[in-house]
Amino acid sequence: MDKIKIPKATARRLPLYYRYLILLNEEGKEKVSSTELSEAVQVDSASIRRDFSYFGALGKRGYGYDVKSLLGFFKKILNQDTLTNVALIGVGNLGHALLNYNFKRSNNIRISCAFDINSDLTGKIVSGVPVYDMKDMIEQIREQQITIAILTVPQTNAQKTANEIVEAGVRGIMNFTPVRLSAPAGVRIQNVDLATELQTLVYFLESDKKIED
Ligand code: ATP
Repeated sequence: MDKIKIPKATARRLPLYYRYLILLNEEGKEKVSSTELSEAVQVDSASIRRDFSYFGALGKRGYGYDVKSLLGFFKKILNQDTLTNVALIGVGNLGHALLNYNFKRSNNIRISCAFDINSDLTGKIVSGVPVYDMKDMIEQIREQQITIAILTVPQTNAQKTANEIVEAGVRGIMNFTPVRLSAPAGVRIQNVDLATELQTLVYFLESDKKIED
């Protein structure tokens, strides 16, 4: 399939649409209107129509979109036909939790290998995933042609580890450390800073309270 250039905001909404379409398909629904989709995924229907127009998927007036063909289309776009292998670096508390979490159920992504420096963990299988020593990392990542890694090492080692995984060929890092990583052009970093997110929530609730007082 040719690569379609779509805006970032549209790309972010694709998994939302996809998940809802799976649900509709399972219920045996054959068509869906943009209004219906809009209510379910909480995106305004004008944006939905615009998003879909990027893929040439134009709903028919008074009919809506064909669920099965949309589903097939999104599946291809989101690479759901192929299983994506991901590496996890740092099998601490958070690392363990992510290994336990079954990514595969909702999308075709799985953590296929994990790495750590702790010899109590290396050579073991944790939640079905082999944990290798860091010294085997470059070789494993190259061999398995892994391009995405989840980073759950302590923040003091974050940048150094990021450099190593990039050297191994990783092009996308899901960074669970609070460190803002630097990486060469062409490497994408998604930051998931749980502590800061929680802190933000606490802050908003506190300031809502002050306004109410
Ligand atoms: P968290 O809850 O953040 O996972 P934790 O308290 O369980 O933290 P950390 O000290 O943050 O543990 O370390 C997480 C994991 O990363 C540990 O299993 C540790 O052995 C591992 N680790 C530390 N340094 C490195 C490194 N340079 N490369 C790979 N793994 C590392």
